Amino acid sequence: MKVFCFCASSLNRFFHRFWSRGGIEKNKALVEHLQQYGVIKSTKVAEVMETIDRGLFVPGGNPPYVDSPMQIGYNATISAPHMHAMCLELLEEHLQPGMHALDVGSGTGYLTACIAMMVGPGGGRAVGVEHIPELVTTSIENLKKSAAAPLLKDGSLLLHVSDGREGWPEFAPYDAIHVGAAAPEIPQPLIDQLKPGGRMVIPVGNIFQDLKVVDKRPDGSVTIQTETSVRYVPLTSRASQLQGY
Ligand code: SAH
Repeated sequence: MKVFCFCASSLNRFFHRFWSRGGIEKNKALVEHLQQYGVIKSTKVAEVMETIDRGLFVPGGNPPYVDSPMQIGYNATISAPHMHAMCLELLEEHLQPGMHALDVGSGTGYLTACIAMMVGPGGGRAVGVEHIPELVTTSIENLKKSAAAPLLKDGSLLLHVSDGREGWPEFAPYDAIHVGAAAPEIPQPLIDQLKPGGRMVIPVGNIFQDLKVVDKRPDGSVTIQTETSVRYVPLTSRASQLQGY
């Protein structure tokens, strides 16, 4: 018992530097709220969302620990915590230690950090692709303050400025692909970069959008299921986004 107490408190001291002021309790309360309402069922997803402080990624002036999307500038938003949780749960089996994952439209980098915490141990890699350079710069600054900082340092968490519709071929094929913006149709390069046996979660549509779960079977054939109706910002060109679509 004595040993356990000692470990817990030193762990707490170690992780405390990765939280914003008062964030540790509020972030935990948010995750517990999502568990109580049955949004988070997976222990692993709860653990990861507790470890990455959302407060570090939501721009000042917005309440980070409520279950809503928030503006992050450049006509983009950080998705609501329940959407992050849902996508992590849909992808969980494909986010095991050592696997490769791609996060298209990484925005604040919050979800990329969660993904990296899941795949990072055991030589895994999480790659975020975002087409607004300023968002990438801010996300890297925030990731350095987060519990995912060591993964950024050792190269298992990478952020790139690029058009995510092209994916990121360098580390393909991916076990898991998450797309954080709604595509009019599923970009072929993303299907091509999905590993046989892998899964992609992507919102598809314009005004009316559905969250689609794309599974690539071991023989390379693809099945697509609709999970739920959603509302995301568009996966589009940088110019169109900056003009307000
Ligand atoms: N998962 C992110 C979602 C951010 S919103 C988060 O919760 O923080 C969607 C993001 O997709 C925005 O940051 C937007 O700039 C980006 N995006 C839209 N079209 C894109 C494209 N073609 N390539 C890369 N990023 C894109």
